[in-house]
Amino acid sequence: MSMMRRDAIEFRGRRSPEAAGEFAPGAASPEGSRIPNPIPVRRGVSLMQEPVLVLNATYEPINVTAVRRAMVLMLKGVAQAEELHPNEVHSAARSHRVPSVIRLLAYRHIPQQSRALSRKNILLRDRNTCQFCGGVFSNSELTLDHVVPRSRGGRSSWENLVTCCYLCNNTKGDRTPEEAGLKLARRPRPFTLHTSRQLMRLIGHRDERWRKYLFY
Ligand SMILES: [Zn+2]
Repeated sequence: MSMMRRDAIEFRGRRSPEAAGEFAPGAASPEGSRIPNPIPVRRGVSLMQEPVLVLNATYEPINVTAVRRAMVLMLKGVAQAEELHPNEVHSAARSHRVPSVIRLLAYRHIPQQSRALSRKNILLRDRNTCQFCGGVFSNSELTLDHVVPRSRGGRSSWENLVTCCYLCNNTKGDRTPEEAGLKLARRPRPFTLHTSRQLMRLIGHRDERWRKYLFY
């Protein structure tokens, strides 16, 4: 079978609790930044999870992170706010504006293939769409399929893993798509910076303040 445990393929890139809600854990995550939330939050807990666009020093968009992590980067002097979120978080003493867009103060080289191969990122790449029947499903209704089965030497790689619904996964079994009479919607590719820009544009529709950085 081509089903697999989700942690079985988390072998590239770093994982950190702060990467939750962030789809490019390798792109802008300096080492050793596991600082607890610096601001005691009474209200607006969910605001701390809001997405923040991360720009390189050159204003090139490179990543999306969460407010919490963005504020850690600002406190460490790694990044500065370029745009602010209209809402505030409240600590015991006062209110704080939170960023919507931050920019790294030092230029960071982003390797093309730094992105972690993970179930989450493969579902993101495939937009939660089964690559065999074209159906769109929630995360829990999807699994990963090895296009060339592992029993035939198929690797756990960007090029050989696709998002798949359980029905198609059962249909395919331990066969290649051709043998099972299934056709791939498209050839699976690595999750590149180009893909992440497309995703940032999609997310950017939610936030007016992102647009001038994304539609260039
Ligand atoms: Zn399907």
